[in-house]
Amino acid sequence: MHQYPDAPSVARTFAPDEPVILNRPHAAGRAARFFATKFPGRSLYAVKANPSADLIKVLWDNGITHYDVASIAEVRLVRSILPDATLCFMHPVKTASAIREAYFQHGVRTFSLDTFEEVEKIVEATRDGHGDRAKDLRLCVRLRVSSEYSELSLASKFGIDLADAGPLLQATRQVADWLGVCFHVGSQAMTPFAYVQALERTRAAIADAGVVIDMIDVGGGFPSAYPGMEPPPLEDYFAIIHRHFEALPIAYNAELWCEPGRALSAEYSSMIVKVEKRRGDELFINEGAYGALYDAAHIGWRFPVDCIARDGERSGELQGFSFYGPTCDDADFMEGPFMLPADIKAGDWIEVGMLGAYGAAMRTAFNGFGQGDVLTVGDEPMASLYTGERVDKRVSDNVVSLR
Ligand SMILES: *Cc1c(COP(=O)(O)O)cnc(C)c1O
Repeated sequence: MHQYPDAPSVARTFAPDEPVILNRPHAAGRAARFFATKFPGRSLYAVKANPSADLIKVLWDNGITHYDVASIAEVRLVRSILPDATLCFMHPVKTASAIREAYFQHGVRTFSLDTFEEVEKIVEATRDGHGDRAKDLRLCVRLRVSSEYSELSLASKFGIDLADAGPLLQATRQVADWLGVCFHVGSQAMTPFAYVQALERTRAAIADAGVVIDMIDVGGGFPSAYPGMEPPPLEDYFAIIHRHFEALPIAYNAELWCEPGRALSAEYSSMIVKVEKRRGDELFINEGAYGALYDAAHIGWRFPVDCIARDGERSGELQGFSFYGPTCDDADFMEGPFMLPADIKAGDWIEVGMLGAYGAAMRTAFNGFGQGDVLTVGDEPMASLYTGERVDKRVSDNVVSLR
């Protein structure tokens, strides 16, 4: 695959009128190796953060063998790319037909749930031709935990309340060959303490249920670096999680799992967008709320940006800008502020960084937009939590910076 050095070289080669996604397989590979070697347990990739087949292959090649899939389409997708991967269906509300297809056609054995009805549904959907119950179900009870330390809540939709968790764990133990407890502290957890609180709740649930627990899954939520959000080192999260896991009243050989989505994919992609018009401190660009900048529009997420001048130089002086996306919808607005040169103008390009998680995956065809090319570049992402590790020398040797 042809690789370009960086965004400016792509912009100058193609002068793209449409957005271009730039992928950095070396950065995703580095993140995967970090989790595979440093997390004190097993790391599952949460596919919904970015279901790109190329990314999934990079993660597999760098040690990620288990995948958290949340829909039958994700099950089929990952199975078609990785015949030997272990797929875990971690959406607590599934249709019976999705469970049946996942179990019988794609070898899925691990399912999450948060109600008695879902236990029953899984048991019924996995009966064999004689009506006999599956003996190899690996079930995870999803506990509701607080999202107060995360930028994005996942607390209100899923998870059983602690007060009701004991009976559900007991009922699930009756039909499960292997029983886990899982939770999700919310995305972009800015402090490891988020997991401490959740593991304390897990301890209370296990004590209440009095059943053998084979696995604890601390979910996703591991952060990436964005403007105004520089998290502590991931090693701190791993150490605190490990310490509290070890103190739980669980089977001596119980496993520890995590399900990073953002942390494994954020650094994978950036995007080149074009400035079509400038109106004061508002820039009209060719990507927005219905595309990779969904989070920038809907939850005010600030992604890092760099200006690529069409001609000459732009001043070093930075100023805050807001963006309008390409559709005719007023909601296609991203407040920012995005810090760019004060003399940026129509015709210039902007590289928006850290779009590998919940960015590149969010593009839609609304209003006729959402097309565009995908290329590979060899430079570093705009921010990284993994650069403590030595960068692959072949990659850095390729980089000829035109900036
Ligand atoms: C979305 C999701 C993840 C990934 O979350 P990140 O914050 O991206 O790490 C993991 N597990 C489950 C069940 C999810 O729904």
